[in-house]
Amino acid sequence: MTFPAGTVSGRSTVLTAPPLDDGGYGVVTEETPFHPLDHTWPDQPGDIGFLQVNDIEQRVVDCLTGGMPVGGDGGIAVEDAGWMPGEGVLLLGDDIPARRGDAGWHWLVVHVVERAVPVQAEVELVVNAERRRAFSAGHTACHLMALSLNAALASRWREGAPRTDGLGHPDFDTLAIMSSRIVPHGSRDVYRIGRSLQEDGFTAEGLAEALPEITARLNSLLAGWIAVDAPVRIDVPSPELSARRIWHCELPGGTAEIPCGGTHLRRSGELSSIIADLELSPEGDELVVETKAAEVE
Ligand SMILES: [Zn+2]
Repeated sequence: MTFPAGTVSGRSTVLTAPPLDDGGYGVVTEETPFHPLDHTWPDQPGDIGFLQVNDIEQRVVDCLTGGMPVGGDGGIAVEDAGWMPGEGVLLLGDDIPARRGDAGWHWLVVHVVERAVPVQAEVELVVNAERRRAFSAGHTACHLMALSLNAALASRWREGAPRTDGLGHPDFDTLAIMSSRIVPHGSRDVYRIGRSLQEDGFTAEGLAEALPEITARLNSLLAGWIAVDAPVRIDVPSPELSARRIWHCELPGGTAEIPCGGTHLRRSGELSSIIADLELSPEGDELVVETKAAEVE
């Protein structure tokens, strides 16, 4: 998989391309620059774009994570040199009864196209780069927001929070996150402020009243992190889709690391602003953060 490095085009060989239940065909290639939606943590949408086979261009209308059971009934054989497309059942998204990375499964990037593509064909793969970039900007802004939220809420924790982030703050983001959705140039993150978080040492008392001050602190930190033009990179331990990739950002105060399956900008200074808006539910048990970023012209 080449998308973690920011790649948006490539050439590869079709391994399998079965018809899909919902129409169209699911093309799996040896290598791809396309980012698929992750069925386990569906934060960043799949890339769209096109693939070209023998001068015929087809739209890639979606890109999903696929799972195929290893060996056994309907499995596919894996040789040292790669793998052989077999009779295997290709399962998509919610139909996969396992989490990404679980043993016993091949984890595949599935390009959804409208017409059949021959197996073994050489294809040109081209991602819609403008759309990808908008998601990369949103994803980088989302992680920076998470770190600044941790910093802005740090004083609400008793000693001994169960985990801290790379900047040394209690990791509110990881401990409370319920869902994260990356949108073009932004994100929407939902946090649960429940009993277990409070048992971990978080003080929810007076949070509603303190929200304007927390928001101001968070946004001023974000402005500062853009101003230092911090380098961003993704560590890729191996090329498989299921590899545990880690997002790194060198910020004043430390290097932050967040496990991440998405795509990113290369520097925080590629953004001209990141503004987060915080909203607490009337019951005080759910915090929604809407993040909006703008790119440098
Ligand atoms: Zn991420």
